[in-house]
Amino acid sequence: MKYDYLIVGAGLFGAVFAHEATKAGKKCLVLDKRKHTGGNVYCENIEGINVHKYGAHIFHTNDKNLWDYVNQFVEFNHYVNSPLAYSKGNLYNLPFNMNTFYQLWKTKTPKEAKEKIDEQIAIYGVENPKNLEEQALSLVGKDIYENFIKEYTEKQWGRKATELPAFIIKRLPVRFTFDNNYFNDKYQGIPIGGYNKLIDGLLKGIEVKVDVDYFSDRKNFEKLSEKTVFTGKIDEYFDYKLGVLEYRSLNFENEILETDNFQGNAVVNYNDASYDFTRIIEHKHFEFGKQNKTVITKEYPQEWDTTKEAFYPINDAKNQALFEEYKKLSLQEDNVIFGGRLSEYKYYDMHQVIASALTAVKKEIV
Ligand code: UDP
Repeated sequence: MKYDYLIVGAGLFGAVFAHEATKAGKKCLVLDKRKHTGGNVYCENIEGINVHKYGAHIFHTNDKNLWDYVNQFVEFNHYVNSPLAYSKGNLYNLPFNMNTFYQLWKTKTPKEAKEKIDEQIAIYGVENPKNLEEQALSLVGKDIYENFIKEYTEKQWGRKATELPAFIIKRLPVRFTFDNNYFNDKYQGIPIGGYNKLIDGLLKGIEVKVDVDYFSDRKNFEKLSEKTVFTGKIDEYFDYKLGVLEYRSLNFENEILETDNFQGNAVVNYNDASYDFTRIIEHKHFEFGKQNKTVITKEYPQEWDTTKEAFYPINDAKNQALFEEYKKLSLQEDNVIFGGRLSEYKYYDMHQVIASALTAVKKEIV
């Protein structure tokens, strides 16, 4: 056979797998149906600004090995994600921290803020939160839930907060310090020169074909290699034979503006239901850009169907149970490795996908 591995999808999982396998002397062919590599971390240069075409990506990890791993390919800058929330005419700091509590309640000390939150939790919280709404009310109480979470979440997911899994909200930290850093991780930053540098570094010297849909010629592609690494949708791999796994999709509206600074921050969330978009990204701020113009993106959550880009897996009980069925099928495919957000049906961050790919490739190549 011509290749050891046919890798379907040139996103982070595929690129890391291809890189490590090639390093170990294996011959890989990477395919991607898009016209470019990088999956959702791909950036397009517009007006000298790296525009995150599939939504903002901020790399963060607690794992020094992973941090060193990505830094082999590109240097990272010192960007720290500190998004703002625009709610009912006011701006607040995120994540929920002493600044937010001061802006909301004028509480000045951790003691005052804790008392306020505890008071609200005592009224609205429950013992065993079973959905996102109950989880939020039990974690932060009614004021924060109603100002920042309920409407944002419902437009983001297109479902009632009572119908969503609690774990989604556990991503958001709550802090009793004046610290606007969105992430708790030790390492954080944006690749200097954009994410394409990371992907190009990973795929250097590897045969890559873009604008090629694996499913258009599956039988022939399968003949090319001993093994396949599949990073697409797991249900599509099995021709949706057990049913369709649901996702939430996004629509991005980019604008080039004749100003050097539109909102003074990379990320501003629009928490109210009266805005159809969830956030505005001003890309230049990820890299401290000094260009005369700016590019902003409004992010509109969308209902998903199989013709649209799949962004967020809907990990509710129904979909999760269906995924488990597909997972069982996938374990019977001896020569196929399934990995990445779409194959594992997981709300992955970048560092988690990379870790998952490194584990998968290590298991393969001893
Ligand atoms: N969220 C919210 N209000 C906010 C930001 C986030 O309610 O201002 C909730 C929302 O349900 C969202 C989840 O927290 O889906 C995770 O948000 P994060 O910004 O981490 O998600 P991303 O879309 O960037 O992966």
